[in-house]
Amino acid sequence: MFRLTATCLIATCLLLTACGNETETVVQNPKDTSSPTVDTTANSNETEDTDQVNNPDKSKPSEASSSQTAREENSDTMQNADAESTQAEIPKMYHMNENYFIKPNDDSLEKKVVLLTFDDGPKEEDMINQLIDTLDKHDAKAIFFVNGYRVQNNPDLLKLIHERGQIIGNHAWDHEDLKKMSNADAVRQVESVQDIVKETIGITPQFFRPPFGSGNDALKAVVDKNDMLYMTWSNGSLDWDKSVKDRPDKVIQNVLDQLNPGSNILMHELPWTVEALDELLIKLKEKGYSFVDPRSIELKVR
Ligand SMILES: [Zn+2]
Repeated sequence: MFRLTATCLIATCLLLTACGNETETVVQNPKDTSSPTVDTTANSNETEDTDQVNNPDKSKPSEASSSQTAREENSDTMQNADAESTQAEIPKMYHMNENYFIKPNDDSLEKKVVLLTFDDGPKEEDMINQLIDTLDKHDAKAIFFVNGYRVQNNPDLLKLIHERGQIIGNHAWDHEDLKKMSNADAVRQVESVQDIVKETIGITPQFFRPPFGSGNDALKAVVDKNDMLYMTWSNGSLDWDKSVKDRPDKVIQNVLDQLNPGSNILMHELPWTVEALDELLIKLKEKGYSFVDPRSIELKVR
């Protein structure tokens, strides 16, 4: 892995030197949902994941995605058929704009919606169950953006999220900056997660969020080729930030401070977020907001 990483870094440097025009990434400033800023430093907002670096069980994406045969054998499972029929029954009533806000397709639909998302799992059964208990209480669906190495370590937790009716998104295999990788490595980071999720629950994710919100046009093309909608977020709860650790009240306040119709809310599988969720959803409802079903969102930006 380290040798591979070193090779990739060298290859990336050579590539960047040769091209000299790496595409800038538009990353939403969590403090200002109305005007996204152009970010050229990559790691602007999301820096929460530290234990991943030292994870001894982490393997290369290429090792995890070796079983094309297994994927094909899984394709006819009842689970797959059920999941696909469920997706087919949800009309596409919303779309995402270029600033990652969720917008209704016509004026008859509710504008005051939010998209709920939880990144960097699956980690712990208790936290996942508590999050989904709260989502169920409010009849809400969310996207759980998972890392491939965590799915490999905890396949049963991915099944739990899926079987409890929540939506799985792709958050790359490792929690690393894809913009700093070669294109080939970035492809593996994306497609290996499609593979392991398909092997585990019989369906492939339809949503992709890059770690740290860091990507470029090449990455977007890979995501598009894999039939996923690329998104970062438009409302950062800052629950990954030190200032919010053990402070569920701050998670709630940060979201409410940035609330706008169509807010795409970034949260994480973290204890203080688990604790905050019920009150947050109550407050959002009090303000007239409802929770958009991710499956009702078109997979093209417009
Ligand atoms: Zn993340």
